[in-house]
Amino acid sequence: MSVNWKNGMKIASIILSFFSFFAKSNSEPALISSLDSLRLGNNRFASELPAHPNQSKGRRFETAIEGQKPFATVLSCSDSRVPAEIIFDCGIGDIFTVRVAGNVAGDDEIASIEFGVGNLHTPVLVVLGHTKCGAVTSAVNGDNIEGLMHGLIQKIIPAVNKAKKANPKLHGDDLIYEAIKSNVYQSISDILKQSEEVRNLVKTGKLQVIGAIYDIKTGNIEWLGNHPDESNLVKLTTTEEKSKEQKREGPFFANKNLMFMAIFVVVCALLSGGVIFLFLNYIPRKKKEDIAEDKQKEPSEKNETKE
Ligand SMILES: [Zn+2]
Repeated sequence: MSVNWKNGMKIASIILSFFSFFAKSNSEPALISSLDSLRLGNNRFASELPAHPNQSKGRRFETAIEGQKPFATVLSCSDSRVPAEIIFDCGIGDIFTVRVAGNVAGDDEIASIEFGVGNLHTPVLVVLGHTKCGAVTSAVNGDNIEGLMHGLIQKIIPAVNKAKKANPKLHGDDLIYEAIKSNVYQSISDILKQSEEVRNLVKTGKLQVIGAIYDIKTGNIEWLGNHPDESNLVKLTTTEEKSKEQKREGPFFANKNLMFMAIFVVVCALLSGGVIFLFLNYIPRKKKEDIAEDKQKEPSEKNETKE
């Protein structure tokens, strides 16, 4: 009975999502959030009730003439079993997708993400890992990968080490799953650390960065939510804040390293000056005193020899 009730609710939510999605596609403002659109789209896909929205000739013409206005940016793996538009039941112009093996976040990926969230103003960024990810599995197994792929796998290794440390008793598929999750969080962390633009958008509430894992067998997505350390990651000082700080404190003292270096140079200069002063004054005076002493001694020595 409870199963039927749950199924009924799921079907009702899917039916609602049809109306909501089309309402979102054709009118402003949106009735549901971007994240809800992704959730509902995935529910439709996984339940084998896809709407295949925005895939018509009209949509092609509309986006070609008016430009793209995607409602989400997604960083996901290049794996052919993880096509973002299909698994989120979306269409043309709906998702700004960045795909790379292992959903790693290097410079080029982050630059693309900045375009999605900064220029196209998508209010949500999803970093999407997936089950049975080959890149993460290779990193867990320590496979000897040659060529440029070697460098990419190296980017996943820290996430694997973190997963191993946090789950010392896990092996095989269980460990790989934890490494996939850890790798999603690592990519989010890399994005937030590297991109001042993304940090600012998160800080000002204009962007949500969400982790997720797609199950390639069931079609369902496990939503991980925000990075556990997001509040600290977005605290990293931005260039804008640095310049404000400099204006407030003066350009010189705002840079503490520069200030300490200057103090160090001044102390060294004073010490050196002191040493030079001693050499120039004390040693010649000492010599003069020695010479005078010798001169005083000389007559008495002469007297001694006479005697
Ligand atoms: Zn993968």
